[in-house]
Amino acid sequence: MAGLIKGVLARVEEKKEYKVDISVVVPLFNEEESVPELYKRLKDVLDGLKREYELIFVNDGSTDNTRQVLEDIFHGDNRVKVIELRMNFGKAPALSAGFDNATGAIILTIDGDLQDCPEDIPRFIEKIDEGFDVVSAWRMDRKEPFLTRRLPSLIANWCIARLSGLDIHDFGNAYKAYRAEVVSGIKLYGEHHRFIPVLAKNIGASVVEIRVRNEPRRHGQSKYGLGRIPRVFFDMITMKFLLTYSTRPLHILGPIGSFFGLIGVFLGMRLAYLKIFYGDVLGTKVSLSVCVLCLFLAVQIITSGLLAELLVRVYYESQGKKTYTVRCKLEHDT
Ligand code: UDP
Ligand code: MG
Repeated sequence: MAGLIKGVLARVEEKKEYKVDISVVVPLFNEEESVPELYKRLKDVLDGLKREYELIFVNDGSTDNTRQVLEDIFHGDNRVKVIELRMNFGKAPALSAGFDNATGAIILTIDGDLQDCPEDIPRFIEKIDEGFDVVSAWRMDRKEPFLTRRLPSLIANWCIARLSGLDIHDFGNAYKAYRAEVVSGIKLYGEHHRFIPVLAKNIGASVVEIRVRNEPRRHGQSKYGLGRIPRVFFDMITMKFLLTYSTRPLHILGPIGSFFGLIGVFLGMRLAYLKIFYGDVLGTKVSLSVCVLCLFLAVQIITSGLLAELLVRVYYESQGKKTYTVRCKLEHDT
């Protein structure tokens, strides 16, 4: 029976050609002092894995000597690729550039400032080998100031986990490994790099977390300050909207518009009642204004929802995008 089924069923999986087993992507912005040691440690660890690999350094418009340091490394190692961005675009675009140029079946991203220990890489690969699609690092014992770094990070992580339903502890760290097909469908906007596991989960990927060491920054300084807090907040709103309502925006805007519409109608009826039975000249000016405002808001919000529905169709249909993802298909041979 098993043989018969084998004969008639063909397992159709999306065929992808990968040139190497692992692509390591490192975004770099003014990290000239860290790069030589980082390269050496990455090379030692990756050589030890006994798999085909490539090292992709993305120079995100550094203004120090990072470019020269990378070129020297490039000329001495044919497994190294260097992507030079024309200017400083930010970490998310730098990672995107790395993903676009990666040819590995597994893509691992690691910061270039030596805060992440390359020696942890084998544990990421082990988890991917176990079958997980995304492996995310949870920094233990972070050696950064509590008030300006760890506390905002704790709050942001807690909020993102609640909003996304993905129960991991550390979204902010870029030290992560992915099965390549998971990131190939993900486009990164703004500073959405911290949401990659969330976006991945949204297309059905399995996500696991491992604990890693974290070192203090030895050279240079962090490229981010407290200014990122409002950006993370607004990114969270975008993410929640994208995750839940990106294919059905009217389901969120419709009820909000209707809520204002109902208040407007109720106030309007009350004003009409006062006018008819008590000859009141359209109630007080305040309730008349509120009534008109609510009705106006209702129309605005519902029409925005309808426009958003139209945009969703343009977004998916113009790019031939699917509203679902397929792991594999079972089909009869014809
Ligand atoms: N980075 C980048 N472009 C930027 C800012 C940062 O490529 O515009 C890189 C940076 O060189 C480092 C990583 O992203 O390799 C993390 O940056 P940083 O250490 O400043 O962030 P933090 O660890 O403080 O969150
Ligand atoms: Mg850092």
